[in-house]
Amino acid sequence: MHIKTDGLVVKEQNVSESDRLITVLTSQYGLIRAFVSGGKTIKNKNLAGTQLLAYSDFVFYRGAEAYNVNTATEKEVFFDLRSDIDNLSIAFYLAELFCELAPEGAECDELLRLLLNSLFLLSKKKKPGALVKSVAELRALAISGYAPNLIACEECGAFESNPMYFDLKNGTLHCRDCAKDGTALSISTVTAMRHIVYSEPKKVFDFSLTDDAQAELSAVTENYALLHTARKYKTLDFLKSLQGI
Ligand SMILES: [Zn+2]
Repeated sequence: MHIKTDGLVVKEQNVSESDRLITVLTSQYGLIRAFVSGGKTIKNKNLAGTQLLAYSDFVFYRGAEAYNVNTATEKEVFFDLRSDIDNLSIAFYLAELFCELAPEGAECDELLRLLLNSLFLLSKKKKPGALVKSVAELRALAISGYAPNLIACEECGAFESNPMYFDLKNGTLHCRDCAKDGTALSISTVTAMRHIVYSEPKKVFDFSLTDDAQAELSAVTENYALLHTARKYKTLDFLKSLQGI
């Protein structure tokens, strides 16, 4: 059985001297794991289309136990990412995060579009890397069943107070009067989070923040992603080592 689909390579593993196993995020089928034979040889016609972060047209065929890549024709390899190690590291981390969040065998179009847009903005430097990372983290979590409730204070319904408090575990907001604990957030950060969760997909990256508000947003979206996926990311540790954190 053959499957024809476009998809983005979000993970690659070497399984032998010449073979690789790749994980592809597709719009219709979610994650597909497939072997690439002769994956590392220079003559392999599928090499460019099956490398990490390549967005390609794939034809997979189902073998006895797994999928195999029949052909992979690259549409976009985000080549410019290679010129900025920070943005490249963010891209690798987002690939690892989305690989964790995406389902196998289920429609996944919104996650795929979000990741493709993130990679495009990072490669063309159209938005600050920290902003792209925060948007991708929080929006991906929201799409994947971890949407926080950011409309108003969970207790009294107050829309705003300065600061507001965010409960990472329950994904809820509390005003200054009702909060018992939680992460204190300025109104600009709360407004940015509301935009990320509630705006239409095309507009999700359309905002800007001061450095202080971005630092606050970066911390809260990253902690939210780490807490709800309950794992560590090697690519995130690497990004932090680059930033000297
Ligand atoms: Zn309240």
